[in-house]
Order: sequence, then C-alpha cells, then structure tokens
Amino acid sequence: MTNALHGAVAALAADLGGISHDADPQRLAVASRDYYWFSPILAAELDGLTAELIVTPRDQDEALKTLALCARHRVPITARGCGTGTFGQAVPLAGGVILDTTALDRLVWVGGAGRGAAVRAEAGMPLDRLDEELRQSGRELRMHPSTKRGATLGGFIAGGHAGVGSVQWGILRDRGNILGLKLATVEETPRILEIRGNDLPTVHHAYGVNGLILEVEMPLAAALPWRDVIVTFADFMDAARFGWALASADGIAKKLVAPIAAPLARHFHELTSAIGGAHAVLAMVAEEGGEALRALADEHGGRLVFDHAEGGFRDRPLYEYTWGHTTLAVKNDVPEATYLICIFRGADPLEQVRAVHQQFGAEAPLHLEYKRINGELAVEGVPVIRYTGPEQIERLTQGFESLGVKVANPHTYFLQNGGMHKIDAAQIAFKRAADPYGLMNPGKIAGVDEVAGAPGGAGHLRASGWAY
Ligand SMILES: Cc1cc2nc3c(=O)[nH]c(=O)nc-3n(C[C@H](O)[C@H](O)[C@H](O)COP(=O)(O)OP(=O)(O)OC[C@H]3O[C@@H](n4cnc5c(N)ncnc54)[C@H](O)[C@@H]3O)c2cc1C
Repeated sequence: MTNALHGAVAALAADLGGISHDADPQRLAVASRDYYWFSPILAAELDGLTAELIVTPRDQDEALKTLALCARHRVPITARGCGTGTFGQAVPLAGGVILDTTALDRLVWVGGAGRGAAVRAEAGMPLDRLDEELRQSGRELRMHPSTKRGATLGGFIAGGHAGVGSVQWGILRDRGNILGLKLATVEETPRILEIRGNDLPTVHHAYGVNGLILEVEMPLAAALPWRDVIVTFADFMDAARFGWALASADGIAKKLVAPIAAPLARHFHELTSAIGGAHAVLAMVAEEGGEALRALADEHGGRLVFDHAEGGFRDRPLYEYTWGHTTLAVKNDVPEATYLICIFRGADPLEQVRAVHQQFGAEAPLHLEYKRINGELAVEGVPVIRYTGPEQIERLTQGFESLGVKVANPHTYFLQNGGMHKIDAAQIAFKRAADPYGLMNPGKIAGVDEVAGAPGGAGHLRASGWAY
C-alpha cells in the first residue's frame, strides 16, 4: 500500500523516474524514527512524525539528481543512515523525503600503513563491513560508536561524537580524527564541496543540516587483536579509580575503559554470572596488554571475572554494553528509564565523579566512558534514571552543574541546545550557502530554522553543554 502523494512530493516522485522510491506507510513510519525515545520528553514530542517518501539512490549520481529535484520542488530532506542516532536527529519535522544513504556503500580507496593509513568510503558504508575490510589489510578504524554493527560511516560523522577507541585517540572532533568529507549542496544544480581542516566542525555532528555527505576520509590505526575484559569491584569509586589508572597507562593499547555502577550492570543479563551484583569495569585491551592489566587490577583490589577475545563470548562484543548501549540495556527492563550526558574534566575529574556519585548515586547511578579530548583524559558520565518528569531533569542538571560537571541535554532535537555543537554566525552562513532553500533536516536549529507548529518545548531546558 502506498500513501496518496500530494503537491510538491507527488511532483517530485513523478520526476524521480528510475530512482528507487517508496511511500509505503509502514516503511515510512520505521524510516522516520531514530532512538529519540531514549528521552520520554522527545518521545512525547516526536512520536508519529513521518516523512512522505523514502528515496534510496543507488549511487552518487542518483543522490545528486535527488537533491536537485528536491531543490526544484522545494521538498525537505532528512538524510538517514541506519537511524541509530539519538535526540531525534533523523526524525523529519516537516515531512518530505527520507534520503536513505545505505546503497552508497563503496570503498573509494585505502592506503598507507601504521599511523599514516587512511581510508575513503561512501557515507552509507556500514561501519562493521568497513572495519572488517580494513582488518584484512592490517588496518582498523581508530574509533567507532558502540553501534558499529548497525550504523553507517556518514551517520557517525553527522550524528555521532566519540566511541570505542576514544580513550586512545580522542573524540571525532579532535584534530586529525576526520580527514575530509565530500559534501553535496542542495540546489537545482548541487555543488560538490571538499570539506577539510578548519571547516570540518561545521559539518561534523551537524545532523545533516548543511548538505549531504557523500564520502568520508578517515585516518586509521594498525589492526590489533583485542580482548574483552571485565574487572569487578565492591566499591564504585575503586572501579572508577582503576578505570582512570588503566586509561592513563599509555603502555597498554586499549579501546575501551568503562566503569559501570552495579545498579546498571545488573541489566546486562548475559553477563550476570560473571559480574554478580558488583560494580564492573568493561575494557578492551590489546592482546599483549593483558598481563599489565591483570597486575593493575590486582593493585586496585579488582577481580578479573571475564577475559575473551573480542566478540568471543556469545558473538557479542563487550562494547555493546557500553556507551549508548548501557542506557538501552536498562530501558529494555525499565521503560521509563532515561539519561543525561555529562563531562567530568578539569583539574580532578575523579573528584567530580565521587561528589556526584555520593550525592546522586542512589537516584542516578553512573556509567563512565573514559576518553581523551584534545589530548586531555576526561570522563563521559551518563546517569541513567527512572524518569519522573522534566523537573527531575532540571533538578539533576543543576545539581550536577553545581559540582562543576558540564551537562549536555539529550532531551532536545535542537542542535545547539543539546550542547554538543556550537552554532555561530559562520555556521549559519555556511548553512544558507549550502542549503539556500532551508531543505536539509529543517527545524533542528533553534531560533534560526524552526518549523512552524513543531513541538519543542523541552528544547529550551537549560543545560551548560560541553561544545568547545
Ligand atoms: C544504543 C546506542 C549506542 C550509541 N553509541 C554511540 C557511541 O558510542 N558514540 C557515538 O558517537 N554515538 C553513539 N550513538 C549515536 C550515534 O550517532 C549512532 O549510533 C551512529 O553513529 C549513527 O549512525 P547512523 O547510520 O545510524 O546515523 P543516523 O541515525 O541515520 O543519522 C544520524 C544523523 O546524521 C544525519 N546523516 C546521516 N547520514 C548522513 C549523510 N550522508 N549526510 C548528512 N547527514 C547525514 C541524519 O540526518 C541524522 O541527523 C549510539 C546510539 C544508540 C542508539
């Protein structure tokens, strides 16, 4: 069954000719969602919003024709990889087209070795396939989201921030972690821009508001054999301190260090026999770092309870319990669960963790992911809570901030109000030049590009944010 199309979208569909498109209501409903429902506030605002047409270009030529036709007919476009983004980034607020990028999945080139290795691939390339192909030539991605098995390269760049590997290499935004992007503008005759250097932050983590990413060029690391390891502790702060020591141990090659408070780890059902009711540090270290890790765990009074080759336990890699997956595991059991995203950094991040854990640990148990930001080791801390209302979010935000913690607001789809991306005059000028009709993911920039009548009350909840 297809929806009856009207007006500009019907005219667009007629002009698309052989470019694959679909107006099946069930497919549209699925393709118009991401993981916004991690937030009950966004769930109330965004449930039921859908695009009118899914267009799936088979190659870059078809993608450019689609952009040109959308510009001609003034039809809004929301780019979509796999829709694993959070915050409603990929939810269309103004109907129009979902531009499905998943058929743009070619490897363009791979070259170099060691720290000099790099890859260029199309934006719809699945991250797991890309990493698998790279490993066959002794290379691997420096970092990937915990959704590697179900996200695209372009979606990670346009919607993500950091992930597995960031404890070693820093966050995506750090200089050198993205090398270049091929971006198409949305005009009757789309232009191709090569975005590099100081221009990268304009397009990275911008929810696709300023053009369609066609290709991504990324630096690589030498592939290593990784081990999934869990060390448990009776005390959460001992787990946090061990994690910090491991993250700081430059001699141990590592991809993940994630202390998880016991009330959250309890939702990792497959791991219960290993973790019991303890606080757990989930880690990925290179094979040859195992001995040093065990010695460090002994020194901190931890128990090594799990040690497998990556993904060697029930085919599920350990990173799929960390980052956004921790919240997902809790939500599977506790539908009203939700979260904040915090950064503990500065002179003594562990003291901030201790203070937050002591004051809010019962209501807001934390999972921590250690990561480097511009060379400095920092702690991303995500409290997962049983949601009682927006006033709880405000109270916790203010409480955390009073202890020196920076808080991003994951309960808004507005790009700058989330607090992980700054919008300045140069960014707005770029958006206007790349997308003169305001068709790319409209409504996501507060005060600049709002869609009349779109929900968005909670977007104005105040939070300090941690864009820099
Ligand atoms: C359980 C879970 C765990 C997660 N873990 C992490 C994590 O560890 N690290 C992290 O950074 N993020 C994480 N995320 C969020 C993260 O952004 C996504 O998992 C992933 O990177 C998005 O890829 P995707 O292909 O699903 O993108 P989508 O959700 O499809 O898109 C994300 C955004 O990018 C835009 N976009 C997509 N493709 C293009 C393109 N070609 N051109 C322009 N714009 C485009 C979309 O419009 C949307 O705004 C997690 C999310 C979940 C639900």
